[in-house]
Amino acid sequence: MTDRFLEGRRALVTGATSGIGLAVARALAAAGAHVQINGLGDAGQVEAALAAVRAAGDPGALHHGADLRDPAAIRAMMALAGPLDVLVNNAGVQFTAPLGSLPDERWDQILAINLSACFHTLKAVLPGMQARGFGRVVNIASVHGLVASVAKAPYVAAKHGLVGLSKVAALEAAAAGSRESGGVTVNCVCPGWVETALIEPQIAARAAQAGGDREAGIRALLAEKQPSGRMALPEEIAALVLFLCRRAAHNI
Ligand code: NAD
Repeated sequence: MTDRFLEGRRALVTGATSGIGLAVARALAAAGAHVQINGLGDAGQVEAALAAVRAAGDPGALHHGADLRDPAAIRAMMALAGPLDVLVNNAGVQFTAPLGSLPDERWDQILAINLSACFHTLKAVLPGMQARGFGRVVNIASVHGLVASVAKAPYVAAKHGLVGLSKVAALEAAAAGSRESGGVTVNCVCPGWVETALIEPQIAARAAQAGGDREAGIRALLAEKQPSGRMALPEEIAALVLFLCRRAAHNI
């Protein structure tokens, strides 16, 4: 069981109504944080996510339904959320198409959610974290923040952008606080393939190429970029995010 080293800390996780974000929100709650989740979904999905976070350790967990394509909605959410000690920019969407046939609105949408939203949330939290001497920002980028794949131009561009944005924010915040206060860090996690709804369409497409064999589709997908041949689980990404929130991670 996790020790409650985040007792008294306030956290916000975007895109936490499913997948990696929900696993991160549950891990933060289990470590004692008051957790606010953001994300889309119908009432049932939002309730189920809130129930999971509450059961994990924060009976007061709250949900913000802000659509991250809308900067004004993000600003309103950040004002409502109040001062934060932990921000996890996790929300993300994917769409695959070759550049020549990529709809313009998909480019705008993916850049808005996967990159610009992280700027708006960071801008809202960083000054307060620096003034208080403690803060943890973890941006969920991707292996596609480091390397490219065909047919993923906006996703790869946004994730590379998120890595760059994180580096600037990390430098600007680095000197805040002390070892005792915990300092302010900004990190990116760059997962390979993680078993969530986000990659289902890609698994389905590969499976179709393999005559409907889902396992063969997964193997084909992983063969490209994941040498272990195994998908990661959302809980495994959450464990790393949780470590980055520890005081011992003040220089990472
Ligand atoms: P997911 O589809 O399970 O979750 C995405 C979350 O983002 C959901 O909560 C959804 O409601 C939210 N979201 C989408 N559009 C939104 C909007 N306009 N406003 C507010 N919230 C919105 O996907 P996941 O796999 O858990 O992905 C989480 C993050 O991890 C993403 O940034 C993704 O790029 C990244 N990632 C995933 C993988 C993978 O293999 N699954 C690999 C690398 C990186």
